[in-house]
Amino acid sequence: MEEKFIPLSVPNLKGNELKYLTHAVEIEWGSTAWPYVTDFEKCVAAYVHTPGAVACQSGTAGLHIALQLCGVRREDLVLVPTLTFIAAVNPVKYAGADPVFMDCDDSLCMDPAKLRSFCEEACEMRGDSLYHKATGRRIPALVIVHIFGNMADMETILSIGKAFHLKIVEDATEAIGTKYTIGPLAGKYAGTMGDVGVFSFNGNKIITTGGGGMIVSQQEELLHEAKHLTTQAKADEANFIHDEIGYNYRLTNLQAALGLAQMEQLEDFIAIKERNYRLYRELLQDVKGLSILPFRAGIRSNYWFYSLTCEKPFPLQRSQLIEKLKKDRIQTRPIWGLIHEQKPYLGSLTWQIEKAEYYWNRVVNLPCSTSLTEEDVNRVVNCIKNYEKC
Ligand SMILES: *Cc1c(COP(=O)(O)O)cnc(C)c1O
Repeated sequence: MEEKFIPLSVPNLKGNELKYLTHAVEIEWGSTAWPYVTDFEKCVAAYVHTPGAVACQSGTAGLHIALQLCGVRREDLVLVPTLTFIAAVNPVKYAGADPVFMDCDDSLCMDPAKLRSFCEEACEMRGDSLYHKATGRRIPALVIVHIFGNMADMETILSIGKAFHLKIVEDATEAIGTKYTIGPLAGKYAGTMGDVGVFSFNGNKIITTGGGGMIVSQQEELLHEAKHLTTQAKADEANFIHDEIGYNYRLTNLQAALGLAQMEQLEDFIAIKERNYRLYRELLQDVKGLSILPFRAGIRSNYWFYSLTCEKPFPLQRSQLIEKLKKDRIQTRPIWGLIHEQKPYLGSLTWQIEKAEYYWNRVVNLPCSTSLTEEDVNRVVNCIKNYEKC
């Protein structure tokens, strides 16, 4: 008998999704009033402790808006990580600005020490703003990504933001639910510490609406502006008067109905993901050359993706490991290609990128769906241990 296929990360829609969706269809009230959108926004805001939240079509759309809220304009430079999904960077170009690529540290998130050295050595303050010395371009903002549900070092990042007058966009698309548990930021959720944070509800994220996003901020005026920009910037809705170039970035009511049902299950999903993460770690700890990367100490991660590093003396290279697992009907994937090496970004400014190259070569993401059973984890591990012997 053929073994069951174990996917990398698939949605889990076994809660109130169908009930709310059915209701959303039955009330036929989708075009002018959006009860589920409002409920979903309130639910997310209450969960992450922000004064509000603005739903949008995708994490990418949310990041585009976030950059505008942070005052990014044409010809500006924006500091971004190179080890991330490209959607964290493309919105910088949508805004007419250019990225400067930064390295990661062992958390896979941006290295704050290198971020600081870039600001100190390659830039200077002119009046209230940071400028890049070699190009003379203004740097108003920074995009920090909480990679795979880990937390970037926000304490240090926030102090650097303050020192160099950088607005901080938190790409928390992978990290809804991740929070500090100890230290000065205890209780703070990923996405809520910078100026603007963005979550994603794409199909492979920990909770999903098929596609969707959410913009959060502690600053009510920014939330107000986010809602304005995502809904065509209407100044006087009844008379079709608009005061800015807005966007049709609103989430639909049907998607919000799904989102609300998913939010109800988020803590349960995190508990399952944590259990499976711990199991992988325990079962793989003796395999030489392999290790499951830890999440930062002092946080409760959402455990979105599990990162396995693969190097000698493990007998297979990372790509061979992925191929072998595929033959055994287990889906994994390599970490993203570095963004500064991708065609649209060749020739971009970079700063001391080393660690990102190291991890780019070695990281594999293991199956992590919330429907993954302990038996499934055991099968993945047994396959890997068998390859070790051959
Ligand atoms: C998923 C993701 C995005 C984009 O979210 P979408 O909802 O798919 O547009 C942005 N940045 C990172 C790091 C992501 O993983």
